[in-house]
Amino acid sequence: MSAYLLRGVSVVGAEPTDLLIRDGVVAGLGRDTGAAGAEVIDADGLLALPGLVDLHTHLREPGREDAETVETGSRAAALGGYTAVCAMANTDPVADTAGVVEQVWRLGRAAGLVDVQPVGAVTVGLAGERLAELGAMATSAANVRIFSDDGHCVSDPRLMRRALEYVKAFDGVIAQHAEEPRHTVGAQLHEGDVAARLGLPGWPAVAEEAIIARDALLAGHVGARLHICHVSTAGSVEILRWAKRRGVRVTAEVTPHHLLLTDERAEGYDPVFKVNPPLRTRADVTALRAALAEGVLDAVATDHAPHAVEDKECEWAYARPGMLGLQTALSIVYSTGALDWDGIAERMSRTPARIAGLAGHGQDPAPGVPANLTLVDPAGTWVVEPGNLASLSRNTPYAGMELPGRVVATFLRGEPTVLDGKAVR
Ligand SMILES: [Zn+2]
Repeated sequence: MSAYLLRGVSVVGAEPTDLLIRDGVVAGLGRDTGAAGAEVIDADGLLALPGLVDLHTHLREPGREDAETVETGSRAAALGGYTAVCAMANTDPVADTAGVVEQVWRLGRAAGLVDVQPVGAVTVGLAGERLAELGAMATSAANVRIFSDDGHCVSDPRLMRRALEYVKAFDGVIAQHAEEPRHTVGAQLHEGDVAARLGLPGWPAVAEEAIIARDALLAGHVGARLHICHVSTAGSVEILRWAKRRGVRVTAEVTPHHLLLTDERAEGYDPVFKVNPPLRTRADVTALRAALAEGVLDAVATDHAPHAVEDKECEWAYARPGMLGLQTALSIVYSTGALDWDGIAERMSRTPARIAGLAGHGQDPAPGVPANLTLVDPAGTWVVEPGNLASLSRNTPYAGMELPGRVVATFLRGEPTVLDGKAVR
């Protein structure tokens, strides 16, 4: 295996030093580490962060390989500074059996660019009617720990309770897409002034908040772990704060786009801004940023949702919801100013790794730790060119924007997946 000496690097904002990577681990930290034979990388002015971990990625394989594959999504992730991603279950076929989650897990290993950790479906076919083979997915080679019907809400409260009881036995977690479906029939964007002005059916905040409140109560009652996907409203933050104070084992994520964009973006009817849950108001964005800094929101997750051109470049009402996120997440979060670099390491690496149970990820670079890390130029900027992104899809809401913070290199178990800002393979 190869060796690399990162010369003059600052580990999560500490004083600059040298960091030696050898045999897949951080072999030394400090000047004068024995670096014989190591390839030297000038890391003057660069930060080393623990490799980012995404709790919420749609890789689209199997089923929609025209929109993304495990390999192309993995490459986008590595370029975004990620070393591990959790692949959502709403593929075709749905990842609701040991066979499908093992297939996704093997494709991830074959691509070898990030660790792809499959998420298993909660219900068969995401239909919300009966539980999938949660135990068989947990004991499969994919070692599934997070289960989610994401894209759909597990709206039946009895089924949700049974799912929580089931995964409690092996300390699994149910990740809920909180959307009471009877409140969002035909919904196109956030229910509020903009939707009223545009004459489009609204997606009310209460549809999210009601499910979070219900499931926090259920998780507390059962004593099981609950995770809330893509929290988007100020009211949800208040419910989560209340639940955490009561000792409910609940964690929550927020997306970069909900930390930056508002429903006013819908004014031009450009479907690139159509997403589920929808972009909310300025007051929601402010509350989400504060909650992320405070820790009521535990993690940033991308909800990277690639879509083929025909599903996105059409009339607003017919467009599929979702936007790309992996390659822009770090820069977007940094641009909001909500977190310092230690906060970014905490919310984009350490905590999500802990929630997902991913050993070897989310650890600050230190001697003996697996070398899963990303090198960032905090002073660097870059312009988002959709055609230059590694994803097979082009639905980024940030096209043409100049963003701060540039990923220079990413290492997965000591081997570079990205060098000089470019994918190594
Ligand atoms: Zn979702």
